[in-house]
Amino acid sequence: MDLNCPQCKSENTQRLSTAFESGLSHVNTSSKGVGIGVGPDGIGVGVGTASTTGTSQTVASQRAAPPAKMTYLKPLAGIFVLALVLVLVASAIWKPLGFFAQLFWVVGSVLYVYRAYQFNSKSWPVLLQEWQNTFLCNRCNHVFLAN
Ligand SMILES: [Zn+2]
Repeated sequence: MDLNCPQCKSENTQRLSTAFESGLSHVNTSSKGVGIGVGPDGIGVGVGTASTTGTSQTVASQRAAPPAKMTYLKPLAGIFVLALVLVLVASAIWKPLGFFAQLFWVVGSVLYVYRAYQFNSKSWPVLLQEWQNTFLCNRCNHVFLAN
């Protein structure tokens, strides 16, 4: 396995995951950017991008973050709230519209769960594997996939 930087030929490279872990100190990782409400071509409900709490995370470490799994709770709660608002608005305007709002909730939730499940069970492991094989050059900051 050639681990030299393909750009500057430096031997001073490190695994991206190592860069990530060494740059992580006292950071609450569980809150890190997992509020994804949109799949690759999924439904457009983007809810709750969580903010990172804790002390500091180096820029290099942020860049080196592992791929995030799609979460269920927040996006589903977001869809529910959105549907609830739609139901309320619909009942004020035109009652039959409420049916579509409820339909949106059910279909939206099912589609989201399906997409998140697909992503987490198929795409995510591939991304994680790639992340584990990705190296960072400490000299020129080039990020490359080792093969
Ligand atoms: Zn380099």
